[in-house]
Amino acid sequence: MSGPVSTVDAPAAQPDASHPSAPCVEVTDSREATVGKFTVRRALPRRGRRTVGAWCFADHMGPADVTENSGLDIGPHPHIGLQTVTWLTDGQVLHRDSLGSEQVIKPGQLNLMTSGGGVSHSEEATGHYRGTLEGIQLWVALPEGTRHGPAGFEHHAELPRTRLDDGVATVLVGEFGGADSPARHDTPLVGVDLDLRATSTVPLRADFEYALVVLEGAVAVDGRPLRPGKLGYLGEGRDELRVEAREPARAILLGGEPFEEPIMMWWNFVGRTREEIDAAYDSWAAQDDRFGRVRSALPRIPVGPPPWRRPDARGRGR
Ligand code: MN
Repeated sequence: MSGPVSTVDAPAAQPDASHPSAPCVEVTDSREATVGKFTVRRALPRRGRRTVGAWCFADHMGPADVTENSGLDIGPHPHIGLQTVTWLTDGQVLHRDSLGSEQVIKPGQLNLMTSGGGVSHSEEATGHYRGTLEGIQLWVALPEGTRHGPAGFEHHAELPRTRLDDGVATVLVGEFGGADSPARHDTPLVGVDLDLRATSTVPLRADFEYALVVLEGAVAVDGRPLRPGKLGYLGEGRDELRVEAREPARAILLGGEPFEEPIMMWWNFVGRTREEIDAAYDSWAAQDDRFGRVRSALPRIPVGPPPWRRPDARGRGR
């Protein structure tokens, strides 16, 4: 459920085409990728659309069958400069990290790991759950003030919910409809699970930009259809959004103040410069203390050097 982000998704550093300050509906295709044994639909980052607020990564994963001993099986791997936000709609996953956290997550709960300057984790079979697994993993880019800071892990077993016209909103991060999530966020941000039975109007903030990622069913915004495998970017300047649903649907609403710090993303790292990415890569390759150790039976995930350090590099990855 974690990365890696490659230059196929988006160049390591390139500004988005635009962050329109007016309402819009820009529909982009997710890229199908394989993470471990799972097919994911990667809605962010894509060429021309790297961030929505500070949200910088969105993988809709599964559904797929897992067993007690064979699940996501994502071995230990490092992160810098981001938070991982894990939300399941079906199944269970065991998270382990270099802080010593060991936490099973189930639908309705949130796992949130803050990398600060460096952390590593694995995502594994639980040892007891057998069945279907489906969910979304999101990354949030950390701002300058906390991206070099200490790592942290939070598990929220319950999250606030609020009623919609004909549905229920669960607030993963931030404030929505008067309900406030306890999850840490370091920039103005919101993430909401919308479980819709029929067309509903949801409250927005005009100073946030937003996008919708549909996980199940289909919806439409301003007459534009959105279904799994698409990202619907909505721009800024709306104080509410009418989400048309002619069938039961589940969508993730992502929003926030446009993230103004130019980011560089490669593999599992969010930084600002090639030097920062290089230093993180070197630490992971050298197995030094920066990323700690994860108590996992899975092998740590290896990676080759960033594209600009490969022998045939000619300024790629810019
Ligand atoms: Mn990860």
